Amino acid sequence: MRVLVISDVHANQVALEAVLSAAPSFDAIWNIGDTVGYGPRPSECLDLMTDRGAAPVLVGNHDLACIGDLDLADFNPVAQIASRWTSSQLTAEHRTYLKKLPAMTTVDGYTLAHGSPRAPIWEYVTNAAIATDNFACLDSDVCVIGHTHIAMYASLRAGQATAEIHRLRDGETLDLLQARYIVNPGSVGQPRDRDPRAAYAMLDTDQGTLTAHRIEYDIRATQRQMALADLPEVLIDRLAWGM
Ligand code: ZN
Repeated sequence: MRVLVISDVHANQVALEAVLSAAPSFDAIWNIGDTVGYGPRPSECLDLMTDRGAAPVLVGNHDLACIGDLDLADFNPVAQIASRWTSSQLTAEHRTYLKKLPAMTTVDGYTLAHGSPRAPIWEYVTNAAIATDNFACLDSDVCVIGHTHIAMYASLRAGQATAEIHRLRDGETLDLLQARYIVNPGSVGQPRDRDPRAAYAMLDTDQGTLTAHRIEYDIRATQRQMALADLPEVLIDRLAWGM
């Protein structure tokens, strides 16, 4: 099975549509969470997920905040503004959809968790020590995460005590049979690894390989939509920097 793996779409419909049309043919879409929050088209992005039959779709911290299931006090002021705006855009149907999503699940032997397998809503896997602790909490050999908006992977080979952590580069293919992996495909809608292109990955479950991709999209179009929605300028600007 060929799987399009996406995360942190953050209501960036232009980026999401670019990914959907750039990705080679696939049998499934796995979405690692934070489909909404920050961006200008939350309803459209959720509709695209249902229309395209994405499953599983995880819930992330921003999704939860937008439906009132997470305290906004945990967010910085601009994220709070964006979250309140997003909340005003969502229909009862969208809320019900988001409420039913898990923050972590297992599919075909792969663990999917928005933040980390140890703490799926909040933990950021940013270094080798955190990755090592998370391998200890992980039943599967491969876990896909999101949340940091940085394309990366942690690997733990047989006999190794601590995990290694690496950036995941455009076009790079991981042989998932060689080690245990925690992989973050990066963010579709708000990359933060100084590469503003939308990030996604293609997973081949028969071959046991995962390939990372970056794709250009019309950043200015998303920025114009955000300006019209009066979303905070700092959130508009950061899309161009990939930060
Ligand atoms: Zn996010």
